[in-house]
Amino acid sequence: MKVGIDPHSGFCGGVIRAISTAEEFLSRGEGRLWSLGAIVHNEEELARLGRKGLGTVEHGGIGNLDRGDTVLIRAHGEPPQTYERLKAEGLGVIDCTCPVVLRLQARIREAADRAQVVIFGKIGHPEVLGLVGQTGGRALVVENTAQLITACGDGRLDTGSPAELFSQTTMSPGEYEELAASLEGLMRAPLEVHRTICAQVASRHRELAAFASEHDVIVFVAGSSSSNGKVLFEWCRSINPRTRLVGAPEELRPEWFEGASSAGVCGATSTPRWLLEAVAAAIENLQ
Ligand code: SF4
Repeated sequence: MKVGIDPHSGFCGGVIRAISTAEEFLSRGEGRLWSLGAIVHNEEELARLGRKGLGTVEHGGIGNLDRGDTVLIRAHGEPPQTYERLKAEGLGVIDCTCPVVLRLQARIREAADRAQVVIFGKIGHPEVLGLVGQTGGRALVVENTAQLITACGDGRLDTGSPAELFSQTTMSPGEYEELAASLEGLMRAPLEVHRTICAQVASRHRELAAFASEHDVIVFVAGSSSSNGKVLFEWCRSINPRTRLVGAPEELRPEWFEGASSAGVCGATSTPRWLLEAVAAAIENLQ
């Protein structure tokens, strides 16, 4: 059986930037570094960085850090209150918010001054919390068309006033198109739809569609907390029903490959390249 790795899978630019910044800081030995929330939604990569000295702190634990410690803001970004809190606690800040997310935050801030803001994204996702924070908590977040219709019905979205629609950067382009079309149909006032899915995510959908159809079996590698991983895994499975999801090589099952002459290994924007290679090597060892 031939085993191939998708050349386009692996960390996106925002994650590469955050991780390399953390590694550079740690190599200089300038004190303790804490990522505010997991720096990447991948348990294996977190363990590797943890061995180098990177800690993870949640918002509730900020008060337990020592003055002078440094906190890294990950690629997802944060709402303005987080920066104020870190400053008040006397903590150093390394801001690794992805430039694409920073631009989206700025566009949402500006839109909130002139219209209702609707965000297509995962409720409670860190990037979405950072986006909603730009509007003082006023933005409406919806995960699907059913939630949109409910919000129009209960008055959380006034269809008679202008609105602007944005997407979390890692959502499915097809689902965003559908949601935008539904909102167009519901609105009586003007609606502006902003194309804010990250270009790297959108192109990965197209590339994965080709890759998934070229192999008998697809092994999709992603951490259990990766939102982008779930979206891309479902996308691959819709193209190739013999798509399996694993977080690590130990989860592979020989029966998945029965009768297959080729297997493809791919992953999310939070899946490290070294893990894709480890999974591909483990598949080869099953034979
Ligand atoms: S998916 Fe795109 S927007 Fe999100 S962190 Fe990666 S490069 Fe930045």
